[in-house]
Amino acid sequence: MTRKKDNKKKSALNVQRGIDQPSHINPSLSKGKSRFKKDKISVETIYEGIIDGDRTLLSRGITLIESILRTDEHDAHELMKLCLPHSGKSVRIGITGVPGVGKSTFIETLGLNLIEQGRKVAVLAIDPSSKISKGSILGDKTRMEDLSVNHKAYIRPSASLGTLGGVARATREALVLCEAAGFDVILIETVGVGQSETAVSQIVDFFLLLMLAGGGDELQGIKRGIMEMADLIVINKADGDNIKKAEIAAQNYRNALHLFPILQNGWNPDVVTTSAIKNIGIDNVWKKISEYVKHTKSNGFFDSNRRNQSLDIMNDTIKESLRKSFFNSPSILSLMDSYKKQILDDELNPYDVAEELIDKFYKDIEENK
Ligand code: GDP
Repeated sequence: MTRKKDNKKKSALNVQRGIDQPSHINPSLSKGKSRFKKDKISVETIYEGIIDGDRTLLSRGITLIESILRTDEHDAHELMKLCLPHSGKSVRIGITGVPGVGKSTFIETLGLNLIEQGRKVAVLAIDPSSKISKGSILGDKTRMEDLSVNHKAYIRPSASLGTLGGVARATREALVLCEAAGFDVILIETVGVGQSETAVSQIVDFFLLLMLAGGGDELQGIKRGIMEMADLIVINKADGDNIKKAEIAAQNYRNALHLFPILQNGWNPDVVTTSAIKNIGIDNVWKKISEYVKHTKSNGFFDSNRRNQSLDIMNDTIKESLRKSFFNSPSILSLMDSYKKQILDDELNPYDVAEELIDKFYKDIEENK
């Protein structure tokens, strides 16, 4: 009996009693193993791991802030509070374009170039469709093969919290944790079909639109509104027979950009060509981004934009919290249910009902004080 119990306690890393531990077993490895156990890790441990640049604990932290469990809410807030003072030092870049334009190839090449220059690169995704398509972007493990195994890179697929607002909020918080972990370039990928770009613009400093030569705007599914948001348009796949076409397309887009209103940040968006697959023109893209950062830091836009983004985040958080409390309130829900039929039968008007429900909501709060 005793022997059996003894054996149970032994981990695979231990050797039999009486024999010295072999030197090739790294003591911090066995220590690390217990830190990464599937069971609950304290917020403090996750925070310290993030500050140490530990990617496993960074992932645990992001999973925590993405959690929709009420029981995780407090810990998630605590972690954000701890990490916020260490954030803000990266360049946050949004990258969009229709599927197939070469986003992941482009991100991989740009990411590896930046790592070679001594930077640390994190890649996040905003993809509200990921719940339905089971991760249409960044979900496929074969993508960004070289970047994903590089220890100076961190790649995280989109949160699948359903609503775009939820995904965008989780991505913004993930970004804060990545910055606290020392990543100094954050690339946020999104599919350029018009939905998530506005959400991305509330998160990033620079917005980059990838396009192809030879497919009209409509064919590429890019809305004019997205083009107007771009700080740089990149015509990708400018290689082989496509070089000339890409240059003509770049000139056409350059002409089109002149017709757009001047951006608030005083920056003139440009159009460049790249071959992501051959690593041609990617350095030029980084040069443009660096020029943009310098320009907007010197005219104050960079910081004021981030402050305004913080205000947007505050507004969104309040709205979301109020919405949740309202629609989760049992007394409101039952009252709403009883009014529904009367609205459908034209017996009550929806404005009066809405007002009454809101009054009831505030009354409940008062009474519960
Ligand atoms: P995404 O869907 O926008 O992420 O696009 P991918 O990066 O997955 O690329 C789609 C296809 O285009 C893949 O077969 C890539 O190999 C190819 N591709 C990406 N960039 C280039 C490029 O610069 N030149 C050429 N010729 N092909 C490219």
